[in-house]
Amino acid sequence: MFGQSQFAFTRGNAFEARVKADGGAELLRLVHEKLDRGAEPPAVGHVPDLSATGPEGRAARTALALREATAGTARAPGLPGTWTLLDHPMLALDVAGSPAYLEPDAVVVHPDGSWTVVEIKSFPVLDGSADPAKVGAAARQAAVYVLALERVAARLAPAPRVRDRFLLVCPKDFSNLPTASTVDVRKQRAVTDRQLARLTRIEDIADTLPDGVCFSPELPAEELTSAVEAVPATYAPECLSTCELAFHCRARSREAGAVTSLGRPVRAELGGLSTVEEVLAAARGEAGDPDDPAVAALRRAAELRAEALAAAGAAAQEAAVCL
Ligand code: SF4
Repeated sequence: MFGQSQFAFTRGNAFEARVKADGGAELLRLVHEKLDRGAEPPAVGHVPDLSATGPEGRAARTALALREATAGTARAPGLPGTWTLLDHPMLALDVAGSPAYLEPDAVVVHPDGSWTVVEIKSFPVLDGSADPAKVGAAARQAAVYVLALERVAARLAPAPRVRDRFLLVCPKDFSNLPTASTVDVRKQRAVTDRQLARLTRIEDIADTLPDGVCFSPELPAEELTSAVEAVPATYAPECLSTCELAFHCRARSREAGAVTSLGRPVRAELGGLSTVEEVLAAARGEAGDPDDPAVAALRRAAELRAEALAAAGAAAQEAAVCL
């Protein structure tokens, strides 16, 4: 992921390779243990070849592999060997009218034909618990994969069940041994589905761009920079972990003194005040509607600060006299 150190990236890859070694035997064992104890244990996992040209080709290959694996389990329900592991499948999801290609770490087809998303992360589970922020981020990511899988499932008859719990695999304590838990993503899935439905279509966004603007990576750096700058952006610190334009947008946002660079909660507290300059002017009583709760709170905070500074100054003077 963008923003991840090379060391963390290499360690993450090594851990994932270990979890998927031997045809995914350990991974399938974990899925069986955590999600499907009633099924026959996986004797031999089937790992189809998903290679194809380009993301579109890989997505089509993945859809075919899912269909074949699901049909295979229907022919031999519950028999050992009917577990299938799709290693780095490619899924397509329509985002604002344009396909976005997604690559989960793995998808498992169970003997009953249901599908489970697997995410393998390099953050550790220490004494049975992991960093909640990281687990939350993994759950949001897995929810998008669940949605994309549901789109594939909807094209099959009968549509297989996409499980709404995903398997999160992490290193145990300070070792390189995998431990797994299941996470319910129904809430994240519903939120993402609503957000996707509300997204402005890419054609509508494109209509608002200046004529002739182009974002081809082959353009000279200066032209590409001007093209990117022609598009308004609302940077927030959260962009740092999710968007490759984060450093660019942060610099522009700081130049403009935008309060969004202080974080979305701060921006929400400041109401209609959108720049640091406006905030300071409001706090000094030079601008802003005094009936605006944000302006009133800023003025009160400025008064308290002035009082505290005056008191501290007086105390310092008294101390100097005593000495
Ligand atoms: S970094 Fe810029 S382009 Fe990326 S999400 Fe944030 S505001 Fe948008």
